[in-house]
Amino acid sequence: MIVILERHPSSTQIADVCRMLADSGLDASAWQEPACTVIGGIGTIEAGARDALTEQLEHLSYVDCVRQIDKPYRMVSREWKNETSLVTVRDGLAFGGKELVLIAGPCSVESHGQLLRTAREVKKHGAQMLRGGAFKPRTSPHFFQGLGLEGLQYLHEVSLETGLPVVTEVMDAQDLDMFETTADMFQIGSRNMQNYSLLKAVGKRRKPVLLKRGMSATVDELLQAAEYVMSGGNAAVVLCERGIRTFETATRNTLDLNAIPLLKRLTHLPVIVDPSHGTGLSELVIPMSLAAIAAGADGLIVEVHEEPQKALSDGRQSITPSEFSLLVERADAVACAVGRRLPCS
Ligand code: PEP
Ligand code: MN
Repeated sequence: MIVILERHPSSTQIADVCRMLADSGLDASAWQEPACTVIGGIGTIEAGARDALTEQLEHLSYVDCVRQIDKPYRMVSREWKNETSLVTVRDGLAFGGKELVLIAGPCSVESHGQLLRTAREVKKHGAQMLRGGAFKPRTSPHFFQGLGLEGLQYLHEVSLETGLPVVTEVMDAQDLDMFETTADMFQIGSRNMQNYSLLKAVGKRRKPVLLKRGMSATVDELLQAAEYVMSGGNAAVVLCERGIRTFETATRNTLDLNAIPLLKRLTHLPVIVDPSHGTGLSELVIPMSLAAIAAGADGLIVEVHEEPQKALSDGRQSITPSEFSLLVERADAVACAVGRRLPCS
């Protein structure tokens, strides 16, 4: 249930509405939007009691209206919050504003030198965040599984050396403490989008979460997964479209561009795009990055490798630092055309 109050209610009025919701067994929270104050109530309430409460609330002079959200996700919905959320990673770096966020780096952390050189290059060309997997969810147990703790250590060192904040994948709720000093943002990978214990665990943390769409997940399921994180108390969620499985085998996945404007209508959470996993082919990464920005994405996460043919994972979809520089140059023009901006422009 959402209660919209006039623009500047008194604190007593806000407290009164919160108490009425709480007395009906709902968890109440209030926030300010540009044109009004909103109080949301979460929980289950029997239909009769809900109608009675709605009527009582609507009778209050300072209540503009009361809305029900008839969806399996509530807190992530646009009905809950009309303004796009700003998800802040650190001072001056937030997803969801006019400025797009560019994340770049290798699929896997392979060595300190590889990571440092790549981080310096992508930073020089305009990336504001470094990506790199230390714990890798590989389809075959015989493929490179990542450097584990050693990889996290390199991410930490390179982040200090370059000043770039880090996003890295966490696969297991029990590992979260280990990531605390290194990760500025937890990445939940496609294969774990419906790992509910992991979603609940990151929901209890105070770090932003990059939630990737499951490769066979619907938009609705992605939003319900995000609702798990928000329900745990962590509102700092960024969604990532990274391609879905279709009958097409010419590309690794089919980047679902529809999902971008659709998600922007359905949720207030920022949405970024991963054109690397979305296509699986390095030569498609630049055009699909441009398409993603044109469709309204709030940022990109791109795999960059100094020698893609030697990469220990996902080399076929990794672009070189100089291709990344070209991507940024072209993305700048598209961003301007749709009223957005790149940090380096
Ligand atoms: C990755 O970012 O390297 C990764 C494994 O992504 P996804 O979970 O989207 O497959
Ligand atoms: Mn990868």
